[in-house]
Amino acid sequence: MPNFGRSEDSPVPELISIHEARHRVLDAALAAGPLTAEEVELEDALGRVLGEPVVSRVEVPPFDASAMDGYAIVAGPAADLEVAGEARAGHPFEAGLEPGSAIRISTGAPLPAGADAVVPVERTAAGGETRVRVPETAPGANVRRAGEDVRIGQEALGAGTEIGPAEAGVIASLGLAAVACARRPRVALVVTGDELTEPGAPLAPGRIYGSNGLALRAQAERAGAEVVAREQAADSRDATRAALGRALEQADVVCVSGGVSVGPHDHVKGALGDLGAEQRFWGVALKPGKPTWFGVRERTLVFGLPGNPVSAMVTFQLFALPALRALAGADPEPVRGTALLDAAVKLSPHREQAVRVRLRADADGWRAEPTGPQQSHLLTSMLGAAALALVPRGEGELAAGERVEIELLA
Ligand code: AMP
Ligand code: MG
Repeated sequence: MPNFGRSEDSPVPELISIHEARHRVLDAALAAGPLTAEEVELEDALGRVLGEPVVSRVEVPPFDASAMDGYAIVAGPAADLEVAGEARAGHPFEAGLEPGSAIRISTGAPLPAGADAVVPVERTAAGGETRVRVPETAPGANVRRAGEDVRIGQEALGAGTEIGPAEAGVIASLGLAAVACARRPRVALVVTGDELTEPGAPLAPGRIYGSNGLALRAQAERAGAEVVAREQAADSRDATRAALGRALEQADVVCVSGGVSVGPHDHVKGALGDLGAEQRFWGVALKPGKPTWFGVRERTLVFGLPGNPVSAMVTFQLFALPALRALAGADPEPVRGTALLDAAVKLSPHREQAVRVRLRADADGWRAEPTGPQQSHLLTSMLGAAALALVPRGEGELAAGERVEIELLA
């Protein structure tokens, strides 16, 4: 194994770029994945990732059909025709179309045999109860062709596609009630810190309410993962090791928050070392999120996220989320773009910054407006944030109006 970064017992991490950190995460995720596919009822498949391509066994639409309410005819010059019957959606007109006649037809009804065009009702004139006058009409007018949407044998959706509303609808249109999806990645969460109190309990002096467990769980679930365990560990090596040991046994991905820095009460790295997890990096040139740790034990990926609530959420987004997507076989690349910065941002000489921004569109395109003070303990700076603006390191400030790269938040 190459020696990434400094050794386990080095007191200060050597910082790598976000890009390099993500590269190491994806390398490990691709080696650990993809997760096996399982059959999932379409009703329950929203947010799941296809493990196999979806190939159509039917034509969609299944037959030539009318696109309008009107009359099915044989295309040709204007004519006065006998109305010989009706085709409705779900109720075909069984006999063929005789020369000199028309069939009243509604949208979605099968085109009767012999007809090759439909005249919309508003372009016809009634000629008594049983006759209709139609204008000159071209072959194929207002006809939906069988297989125009999806042909038999066509790959309608590729493996790795995430099932959203449109995908669910298309799969239903093919007549499939279940699809093969990658198993949901199993995530175990451990939060560390003697100061942490569960919401709902009274707060003793010096304690705070813990938020990382809940926020990380929400991020993991939104990423399509199944959170199989969540526990809190006290700030001792033994307690941390025990909690992480249980987490490692049951998860594809372990996320632990806090205790990953260099203080005397930070035990995560040591405990993970005891448990045989192999460090792939520790320390990212990122603000917030510098002490982030990442490693693997066999096929389990382990993220040591900083305890500060913003740092935990930002580093989950930047590193754990792409890993979860890659494990499921989905495209791990985040949605990226650029926007014009709305307010100046003070640059950090050594670290790239992930500035939480609201997005709004104006005549020049997207504007990125920082949500307010950006310190890593101010969790409310995540409120309303639609994206992270990735501000490069440097001296001085990045002025309002400058273009920045943005990454949409999941
Ligand atoms: P640590 O990374 O353990 O040094 O923690 C850094 C800061 O994050 C400290 O102020 C902790 O109290 C705080 N913190 C750690 N875990 C949580 C949590 N689950 N919820 C809220 N704050 C936390
Ligand atoms: Mg701590």
